[in-house]
This record gives sequence, C-alpha cells and structure tokens, in this order.
Amino acid sequence: MSQQKDQILAEMGIKPLWRLRQASPAEPQAEPVPPVPLADDAELVVREQKLEPAVPHSVPEPALSGVAGMDWDTLGEAVSACQACRLCERRKQAVLGVGDPHADWMLVGEGPGAEEDARGEPFVGQAGKLLDAMLAAIALKRGENVYIANAVKCRPPGNRTPEPAEIEACRPYLERQIALVKPKLILAMGRPAAQTLIGGEVKIGAARGKLFSYLDVPVIVTYHPAYLLRNLPDKARAWEDLCFAKDQMARLAST
Ligand code: SF4
Repeated sequence: MSQQKDQILAEMGIKPLWRLRQASPAEPQAEPVPPVPLADDAELVVREQKLEPAVPHSVPEPALSGVAGMDWDTLGEAVSACQACRLCERRKQAVLGVGDPHADWMLVGEGPGAEEDARGEPFVGQAGKLLDAMLAAIALKRGENVYIANAVKCRPPGNRTPEPAEIEACRPYLERQIALVKPKLILAMGRPAAQTLIGGEVKIGAARGKLFSYLDVPVIVTYHPAYLLRNLPDKARAWEDLCFAKDQMARLAST
C-alpha cells in the first residue's frame, strides 16, 4: 500500500484497511454482505422510478408552486419560508444545501440534525468531519466541485428518519437543486437518501457497487457518515464505494 494511500485511509480512520473484522451489529440497512468488488464492468442500472405520490397534508403549500422555475435565490427563499410539511414546525431554520452550485459531484443525505439545524449547513459536527475526510480520500473538498444537500431541508424531531410523506413534500426542492447544479454524479448517503433517489425499499448492502439513475443523473449508493461513526467496520466498505464513485466519475468525464 502506497504512502499516499496510507495517508488517505488514515484520514478516513480506516487504516489499516485490510484487517479482518467482524460484521457490525445488525442494523436494518447494513446487512453483513461481502464488499462489492470494484469491477470495471459495473452495470448501469436504470430503474423506473416508482415514487409514492405526495401525501396530502393540511398545511397549504404556496411555497412549492413554481419550484421548477426557481433560481438559487428564489429557491433559498422558498425553502426558508416553506410550510409544506410538518417538519417546519420545530425547525430553527431550513437547510437548503451548501457548496459549488455547478459541481460535478452532488452528495445527498437524509436531513439536517441538531447542529445542522442550528448552523444552517448540512453535514456539520462529527458526521461532517468524517464526510470531509471521505471527500479528501478521493481528492475532493467541500465547496470545490462538490454540492451537498439533503432529502428533506428541515430537521426531523429527535433526528428521526424522515417519513415518506415528508420526503415527497420536499422532493421538488431537491429536484430543482439537481436541475440547477447539473451534477455528473450523485452520491446517495444512507438509506433514506437512496430510497428518495432510487425509489422503493433499498438495502445499502445490496445497492452498493451499482449505478442507478435519477433525473438522468447517475447515482451511487453508500453509507451515511453518521452511520459510519457508529459502525466502524463499514468504513472500509465506504472506502470501496468512494473508489467506485471516483472510477465512475473518471469514466463520465472521458465520455
Ligand atoms: S422539510 Fe421540505 S417540504 Fe417540509 S417544511 Fe421543510 S422545506 Fe418544506
């Protein structure tokens, strides 16, 4: 293993990489499957989107009208004022996203946590530090050719998983972000993000190492940094996913 790779893996906290580990305690989205080989012939999987219809809710949603035509400024204003789902009720602020508005890479997580809610930026705190290390591992940096967003823009109380109706209510904003950024590749981090972009029930372990598509943008699935903080053995799998993503980006850039 090269010195450079050693440094990268150390940054991610997964050095040494090849130590045999026991599978982590069971978590629904992280069944102990063997790592997906980083095959060069990874299949392009384009699934028909089977999205749940938006669930009607009692709060009027004037903010969602015309989202598809919004620029960044109006989108930010609309999200800040949005009351389209009940997540608006306990937020300190809505968290739209952060980064290069014309990035090749777009990362999509689940939703703001307490620190994100307080600071107005996605992926801060310990999970954010790990994400920054993951980005550094593939020679990327927050804000430089990377845009980071979440499936829902307001913090779910108690950091619970966003409900499908909340994700559907917020989907127009995410879709507008994707349309404005025009990323070459989306990294879906964690099960809710993966399910938002791929549709249906997603198991991270089974979805890793494949290319999906959302709005004609290739999507790769990996673990959420907050999950990795609790399940250290899966960092090695996340490293594999990042290598796979970088390889796919290189292919996309050359076509
Ligand atoms: S989570 Fe999304 S849809 Fe719900 S209130 Fe916040 S911005 Fe609006």
